[in-house]
Amino acid sequence: FLLQLFIPLNFLGVVYRSVKYALADMDLMFKLLDNQPEIQDHPQAQPLQVNGGAVCFEEVSFHYQPDRPILAPLSFTIPAGHKVAIVGASGAGKSTVARLLLRFYDVTTGRILINGQDIRHVTQASLRAAIGVVPQDTVLFNDTIRYNIAYARPQASQAEIVTAAQLANIHTFIESLPQGYDTTVGERGLKLSGGEKQRVAIARAMLKCPQILIFDEATSSLDSHSEQLIQTALSQVAVNHTTLVIAHRLSTIVDAQQILVMEQRQIIEQGTHIKLLNANGVYAAMWARQQEEK
Ligand code: ATP
Repeated sequence: FLLQLFIPLNFLGVVYRSVKYALADMDLMFKLLDNQPEIQDHPQAQPLQVNGGAVCFEEVSFHYQPDRPILAPLSFTIPAGHKVAIVGASGAGKSTVARLLLRFYDVTTGRILINGQDIRHVTQASLRAAIGVVPQDTVLFNDTIRYNIAYARPQASQAEIVTAAQLANIHTFIESLPQGYDTTVGERGLKLSGGEKQRVAIARAMLKCPQILIFDEATSSLDSHSEQLIQTALSQVAVNHTTLVIAHRLSTIVDAQQILVMEQRQIIEQGTHIKLLNANGVYAAMWARQQEEK
């Protein structure tokens, strides 16, 4: 009887572990939420030559279901090393843009280029290796904080882990814990706040050392200290990275070189924070509303 019980439990353990690992893989986060057709590598797919990581959406349209267009042809460029933010109401298609860049779906029309290469013509492994994702909600393993940061690159040295944690503005917090980097976190360990978890995710992404970074800002509200820590971390890590920020709090992106405002499947305004405020349109109204709420 015990053996009978053990086998299914053991099997469940395997399933549980694989689900847990899949969940903790940042890049799969977007994927698991959806039920999309399998994307195949092109037979002649070459590894992506990242070289700076300039991103270009050329007349990209997209639908999940044919009767419901999500993106009307939209075009924008993120020059290598620049930070571009997308803002807009819930459901406007911001996360869809990120999913398309990671090629979890193929565009319906148009094309997406990274350093001039159509992402449909490069191997998915090389594409995903070039892009780091900081998701809204980070799932942590029941393991040490060191393990959680080094997950994307288990062979990383302690010095590299510390550098990533410093960039992500979480090192001082970790050092303040009695067991430091050996502290167990996750469900059965120390529970981290939303802001701390997001900073662990930033450290993870930094250790992966991608040229392109997608930062999906958490919608849940954070206290202003935590928000400040994340904002500083993001400005630090955005240096030398081509960064796409899906933003909910406009204060996070005032320093972006370009802000895209999405509405009704399109980019309706674009420019720097100052330019958009002066234009006195949708962005300026969103800004005024958020300042009032503060
Ligand atoms: P939020 O700010 O709430 O995260 P968003 O701007 O990121 O929203 P998306 O997640 O890109 O919006 O979704 C855009 C639209 O696409 C929504 O109307 C959503 O219902 C729809 N959508 C998203 N994923 C799928 C899917 N897998 N199948 C069908 N429709 C989807």
